Amino acid sequence: MLFDVRPKEDRKDLYDRDKEIDEIKESVERKVWIAVYGMRRVGKTSVVNVAVNDPKYLVIKLNLMRIYNPKKKRYPKSSFISLFLESINEVIKKYTLGGRLTRLISNILGIDENSFIEFNLVKIRARLKRFRGDDVNSVVRELDLLAGDNKKTLILIFDEAQELMKVNGINFSSIFHDIYDYCKNTTVVFTGSSAGILENMLKSLEYEKPFFGRFIRRIRIEKFDERLSRDFLLKGFEEEGVKVTEDVIEKALKRFDGIPGWLTFFGSEYSFRVKHGEKADVEIIEKMAIEEVRKEIRDFILGTQSPERYSATILALDRLGGKGSVAEVTKVVNTILEEVPEPRIYEILNRLVDMGFIEKVGDEYFLPKDEPNRKGLV
Ligand code: ADP
Repeated sequence: MLFDVRPKEDRKDLYDRDKEIDEIKESVERKVWIAVYGMRRVGKTSVVNVAVNDPKYLVIKLNLMRIYNPKKKRYPKSSFISLFLESINEVIKKYTLGGRLTRLISNILGIDENSFIEFNLVKIRARLKRFRGDDVNSVVRELDLLAGDNKKTLILIFDEAQELMKVNGINFSSIFHDIYDYCKNTTVVFTGSSAGILENMLKSLEYEKPFFGRFIRRIRIEKFDERLSRDFLLKGFEEEGVKVTEDVIEKALKRFDGIPGWLTFFGSEYSFRVKHGEKADVEIIEKMAIEEVRKEIRDFILGTQSPERYSATILALDRLGGKGSVAEVTKVVNTILEEVPEPRIYEILNRLVDMGFIEKVGDEYFLPKDEPNRKGLV
């Protein structure tokens, strides 16, 4: 169903995106590593899921949003390792694979194999400290061999890969170099909502041996244009068996501005309301979407090093009528908080731009209006 609000897995549920899927598949075939960019809710996860949904591939997916905690600036090594092991465990079960792999992991953890297969959290959690960066390499090498033995390609997906930079105590640069050098059946896919932050992450991986950037293919997922957005909504409503007027479609196109995630959210909510005899109206659904985004901004700010400065910066922009230069924002911030130097405000503003919460045009920063269709809000 087009209006299913979970990330899509099946080609038939995904609208358009043939070109992007082909690009991903072709890169995987050639073992070219990929970075998939695009704003939140544009459909990165869905496009990658659909592209790799093929029995030729052995897919290990690490959704780093699962360890994301807005209250934490850094994550302990163990949160990454448990995510890593859990993802492998799912694959072992799904494909009934790998006695050798299970043995290797259980040995490292010092637990019996059944505890790993059943994913006995008490036992596993107590032993996570034993798992080091080098052990991640050994496990990936074993997976790579397994994939090769089964004539498959191993695809390691790091969703919202920028979060890797916050994990303490693991040298990802060394891990990725090892994979690149030794795992010939493996491709790595990074996804990220912010091109700026993802590029920084890729750069940080180059710290010791500069080579990554050049070999990672960038694939950008764009919003739908108006024609595609309209067609997506019409097809979706047809699938739901819900009749809508041209006026509703027009309004939705204006407010949800080609962002597939919002169009899906709108379509799903609208259809549900019509089917259940509830008031279905674009404005109400738009308000729900705005509330969602507000929550995300709040969570993001709470997770930064200096929530007060971030809040004061947004407040300052608001007091300036929604737009201002770095100097103007700094002046207002300094009436709210103690002296904050201008370069620091500059950094904060740019981080907010990177995260897609505010916009920058020329030398001015803009607070999005209360509409999810403004780029800054999504
Ligand atoms: P991202 O990873 O970029 O945040 P997701 O893949 O999670 O985006 O998609 C966000 C929402 O939009 C999900 O509900 C997904 O089902 C829907 N969606 C995105 N792209 C499409 C598409 N091309 N066709 C149908 N639904 C889509």
